[in-house]
Amino acid sequence: MKKILTVVLALLLGNNIFSQGLSDNEKRIIDYVNKHIPDAEKLLTDAVNINSGTLNKEGVKKVGALFTPEFHKAGFSTEWVTLPDSLKRAGHLVATRKGKKGKRIFIIGHLDTVFEPDMPAGPFIRLNDSTATGQGVNDMKGGDVVAIMALQALQSLGLLEDVSITAYFTGDEEKAGTPTRISRADFIERAKTCELALAFESANGLNSVATARRGASGWILKVNAKTGHSAGVFSTGSGYGAIYEAARILNQFREELSNEKYLTFNPGLIVGGSEMNYDESKARGEAIGKTNIISPSVVVTGDLRFLTEAQKQAAREKMKEIVNRHLNGTSAEIRFQDGIPAMEPTEGNSRILKTIDEISRSMGIGSTQAGDPGARGAGDISYIAKYVDCIDGLGASGRGAHAPGEIINLKEFPYLIQRAALLIYRLTHTE
Ligand SMILES: [Zn+2]
Repeated sequence: MKKILTVVLALLLGNNIFSQGLSDNEKRIIDYVNKHIPDAEKLLTDAVNINSGTLNKEGVKKVGALFTPEFHKAGFSTEWVTLPDSLKRAGHLVATRKGKKGKRIFIIGHLDTVFEPDMPAGPFIRLNDSTATGQGVNDMKGGDVVAIMALQALQSLGLLEDVSITAYFTGDEEKAGTPTRISRADFIERAKTCELALAFESANGLNSVATARRGASGWILKVNAKTGHSAGVFSTGSGYGAIYEAARILNQFREELSNEKYLTFNPGLIVGGSEMNYDESKARGEAIGKTNIISPSVVVTGDLRFLTEAQKQAAREKMKEIVNRHLNGTSAEIRFQDGIPAMEPTEGNSRILKTIDEISRSMGIGSTQAGDPGARGAGDISYIAKYVDCIDGLGASGRGAHAPGEIINLKEFPYLIQRAALLIYRLTHTE
């Protein structure tokens, strides 16, 4: 009886039960990927062997030129988005397919790396049967190749007919051209025409993806105080001086805000003394101080990282309140600068995660869960997270991003390409 029921169910569900939930098309996708792993590694090698430090405009364009025919193979049209010269950045590669089927997807990659040409070269080198090293192999040329190969697999099987996908590979993710309202304008506009975004920044193994990323911002604290002979410090007439006031403020920041989950703030520079100056554009300061003078001024600069806009606002209010509890004879003000917004954890993001989790289980690679948002900095996806549902961390796995000797895990690479292809397939073929 049980057996008959299984067969009937299998017929109803189109053979799904016999393959742990993978359809025939999905099995074909996996076969294609497995056959084309050597092509994926070749493309990755070629991409890594082009230096594309963010400021190396020619190199970034060359990586774009390398990927362009690969997008054409997947049936995409491509264009190069230029930026004004004043931004000193190469521009972005955009590949599009337009159709009406399923979800409109925005795929995110980046062509640049943190490694500029004046740093020691880091070509693609296979270390053993499961790892390779090279500049950007993990962050994120590996992820770019995951996305491209996934699209090629779908195209070769005729599964991209009538779907709508925009693949946006920026040329300056690691050091975005400023102002970002210019360097990210087109990126944001195009993302708004899509329903969801999939970013292929480094994966944290096979079993976690990012449903949230923290945002980053900055602050500058300026403290002024009466100056005078040090012998009078703490007295009603002389007050406490700027250095004690700055120390009080920083200590209270730490005492009152440092236990809040996902909130961090780090003072990165402090200058104070009897005479000092601070150059904001160069992030550089100088001070002269005598031990017998009460310091009249201090500057502190720091960052502030947060998971939601609400958390950022609340932290800023609290910090202002702490600043305003001036010690006698001092005054202080804090100014906040917006940086990259947060990718907040949303229900929409969790829905995509659920689809990924189902795919991973069907593939037999275990479950996929939401990674720790505290573990990741901000990325390009953060600029559009408030407009569309988002998932990041779909790229290549490995370790050591941003450091010489970064590594890609080549054993997991095929599974990540397969999973990406199945994800795009399911998002575009189910309503
Ligand atoms: Zn990256």
